[in-house]
Amino acid sequence: MQPRPRTLMVFIDGLGIASSETNECPLSSATCPHLLECMTAHSCAVDAHLGVPGLPQSATGQTALLTGVNAAHIMKRHIEGFPGPGLCRIIVKHNIFLKFISRGYLATFANGYFLENEDEARRLRLRSVTTVATLSALGSVRNRSMLERNQAVYQDLTREALGARGYTGPLVTPQEAAEHLLTIADEHHFTLFEYFQTDRAGHTGDMQKATEVLKRLDAFIGALLKNMDRERLRLIITSDHGNIEDLSTRRHTHNPVPFCVVGPNAKALRANVQTMTHITPAILKLYP
Ligand SMILES: [Zn+2]
Repeated sequence: MQPRPRTLMVFIDGLGIASSETNECPLSSATCPHLLECMTAHSCAVDAHLGVPGLPQSATGQTALLTGVNAAHIMKRHIEGFPGPGLCRIIVKHNIFLKFISRGYLATFANGYFLENEDEARRLRLRSVTTVATLSALGSVRNRSMLERNQAVYQDLTREALGARGYTGPLVTPQEAAEHLLTIADEHHFTLFEYFQTDRAGHTGDMQKATEVLKRLDAFIGALLKNMDRERLRLIITSDHGNIEDLSTRRHTHNPVPFCVVGPNAKALRANVQTMTHITPAILKLYP
């Protein structure tokens, strides 16, 4: 029997689909051809509002994305940044990692933390939605020594940002980061990688900064697409809310986000996803 295809989800914070009226959009075929190809040929548009007025935000958006629970509706508003106790309860109880492992599948968060062990991660003052989900469902995070052995990918892809934190090891290219991620994805039924430099760049409103970030991300996505085995792995690229696609504002946008799928069951998956809370259940349907 053929092994069940693996799923690799690359979650990109703050990437919306630009409206045609925007003329301050840094996404172009010169800057990010592979990402644009995914967003046009392999994607559907997902509404990020969750039926709640106001601008979509990260804590509620990511919780909805990674649990299938409408966190903004429950909290009665969009919540920025890091999840508080109410959202943490939803994440701990319903996150996608937990759902995979409770069905007997292997799931992992591929991001590496520049920390010695998970106790240090538990003591972090601000824990992201992904950190809360990973620690509660999987018990540990990929730590410093795993990162140094290339068994994890750092959030900025190249580890440049780690210099300021005392990292003296080699930098990696976005292509090498993609190779490391594909090795991890091959060993798990579900792998998540989180990239949030896009949201940071979007909040600066700086075209040059946004272009740099998108070029690096595109080299990574291009390498994933080139080297992935499309029979055995499906690549999902999605986001929590818009931001970087419209630099005329430093705030998030009301734009829909892409839900890109390449690989097995791509069409069926896209057909099942219209809003953020559909994503986790649609993926889980493939792993009964
Ligand atoms: Zn943001």
